[in-house]
Parts: sequence; structure tokens; C-alpha cells
Amino acid sequence: MTPRANPVSITLSGCRKTFPDGTRALEPLDLEIVSGETLVLLGPSGCGKTTTLRMIAGLEQPDAGGKVLFDSADVTALPIERRNVGMVFQSYALFPNMSVAENIGYGLRIRRRPKAGIASRVREMLALMRIERLADRRIDQLSGGQRQRVALARALAVEPRVLLLDEPLTALDAKLREELRLEIDELLRGLGITTIYVTHDQAEAMALGDRIVVMSEGRVAQVGTPREIYQHPASAFVAEFIGTMNVLRGNVRDGAFVTGAGAIPWPEAPADAAEVRFRPEDVRLAGETPHLSGKIVASVFRGDRTRLLVDVGGEKPLVLETGTRSDFARGNAVGLCVDASGLIVLPEAK
Ligand code: ADP
Ligand code: MG
Repeated sequence: MTPRANPVSITLSGCRKTFPDGTRALEPLDLEIVSGETLVLLGPSGCGKTTTLRMIAGLEQPDAGGKVLFDSADVTALPIERRNVGMVFQSYALFPNMSVAENIGYGLRIRRRPKAGIASRVREMLALMRIERLADRRIDQLSGGQRQRVALARALAVEPRVLLLDEPLTALDAKLREELRLEIDELLRGLGITTIYVTHDQAEAMALGDRIVVMSEGRVAQVGTPREIYQHPASAFVAEFIGTMNVLRGNVRDGAFVTGAGAIPWPEAPADAAEVRFRPEDVRLAGETPHLSGKIVASVFRGDRTRLLVDVGGEKPLVLETGTRSDFARGNAVGLCVDASGLIVLPEAK
């Protein structure tokens, strides 16, 4: 399939959502989705991801004053069938009484496309998703991964202006998830279609998103590239939600961050830093002249690496990873070095 020319850009402005029972699912939300990008909505269950997606689809209306634009056209009042969107859900939502090929052609039939055109488009979609041999199967004869391939093929068959995916991999087991994630990634890059992908899984978000929107309680907590979100979280919520984060309390003295367990050299330290965060990959075991000294409280062998939890007198032990050649026993005293370029200071929570 050839990449789509001029993919649509999408703007949400002031999109608040209050359900009839009074539940406030979204605070006034402003969001720009760039033409052709894959934007991931990431956040814990109940933070408003699906509601945002349904609003873009035309399945929910924002409260009065909210606007949804496709390019510069206001589509706020248009129902889903007039927005030309393709959707894939966590639950497959395929028609069980139709074959795979009939499912894929469904959207084209209700649009009354010519029969020959439908057949060739269905063949094209079967090939794109590599499910040609499943064309005549019934849906209940398919595995979960095959069903999601059919759902994607059905969503793309109508050449939607935007592809909306709501936790499409959540129901699959870990290995299949990874496999299909790689395929979706390749597919989206090839198609160049504007895509909004909802997930609560941060690994999936980092792998697929050109940009990630981290959401919390109906608000945007941060928007950025996976790298920005991971390395420069804007708040404690984002820092804790994405990956593993170490936290250490102390104070800045003589170009170092000083804690009860030792001092981390840090020439550029902001004078008032009282709490720093850093990722497991920014701390390592040190043979000589360690910055911090501590004691191993847990050691988890993972085959390719060992994850160590080291107590340095803080609220929680520090987490770091090492190779697996030597054994690290609980109770061992160890020295640690922390890379100051990985230190993050966040504004105090209000
Ligand atoms: P997410 O997809 O991030 O898990 P949702 O967008 O589904 O979150 O839901 C956001 C909030 O809105 C939740 O508190 C949810 O219970 C509520 N909600 C969703 N749909 C409805 C509805 N139809 N009526 C009332 N409350 C709803
Ligand atoms: Mg949801």
C-alpha cells in the first residue's frame, strides 16, 4: 500500500467531558496531533484515554465549547460515519457470523463501493496483514493475534484519514504482543497515516510513539518524545509512571549532592536541590572510590542481567542492574557510583 498523501492533523481545543451521571472524565483538554505522526495516549486505567479517542472518532461529544478539528475543518458536530476514521479496540469487535474476508470488506460494502473494487481491496488488505490463507475462515476459528490482524485490516480497508487504536494488544500474551507490536510499528511507518494509539503499557508507548501524551485524572501530565518523557519527566507522577526511578534525599554542598551514605560529585548542582531522581542505568557498582556505600537487600537474576536492590539509608532501596557473571548475595556491602548527568530535580509537588 502506498503512503497516504497529506495525512490529516487533528486539534482538540478545550475538550472537557462530563458524562450524564456527573463523572468528569476530561478536564478541558488541548491537544495537537501532527500530520502523519503516531501519538500515544498513555496513563493509568480511568485517566480518560478511551474518552479522548472516542471524542476524536465522533463517538462522544465534548461538553459545550470544546472543539475537534481535522486540519482546519471543525468536525465537532459530525458523527463517526462522516469522519472517515478506522478504529481497532481491545476486544476484537469483529462480526462472528462473517468470514475474515467479509469482515474486512464490511466498511466498503456499507459505503456501496463497486463489487470488483471491494474484492481487490480485500485482497490487498489480506496481503498487507499477511493473512491471505485465513480469508475464508470464520472469526471463531482464529487466535487472538489473528483477530487483531483482521481488525487492523478492516480498519485500514476504507482508507481512513486517521487510525485509532484502543489497547489493541492488551488481550494478547506477552510474546505475541511483542511480535504484533513490531508489525504495527512497521505498518504505521510504511503507511504514514495519522495514528492515535491508546495504551497503559509504557514499553509499548515508548516503542510505538513518535510522541507520547502522559495522562492523569483527565489531564495532560506531559507531552514529548519517548526520550524526553523518559529522561526529562516534568513531574513526579510522570517520573514514577515511566520505567524505574530511584529517589534520594540530601543537600548540595561543595559541588556535590550529599546524603547519609556518601556524596555524588555534581558541579552543576542547583543550590537548593533536596531530592534527586535517577534511572537504574545511571548508577553502577564501583570498585574504588565509590560515591555511596550501601548493602544489597535483594538480587534478582534475570539471565541476561541481575537487578540489585541496594539500601543506602533512603526511603526505598536503589535499583540498579549489573552483568550476571558474578553472584551478588544479600547482605553484601557494596559501593556505588552515580552519573551526575542522569540526575533529575523536579519542582516540589503543589
Ligand atoms: P481510560 O480509557 O483511560 O481507562 P476512560 O476514558 O474509559 O479511561 O474513562 C475515564 C473516566 O470516565 C473514568 O472514571 C470512567 O469510569 C468514566 N467513564 C467512562 N465512560 C463513562 C460513561 N459512559 N459514563 C460515566 N462515566 C464514564
Ligand atoms: Mg480505556
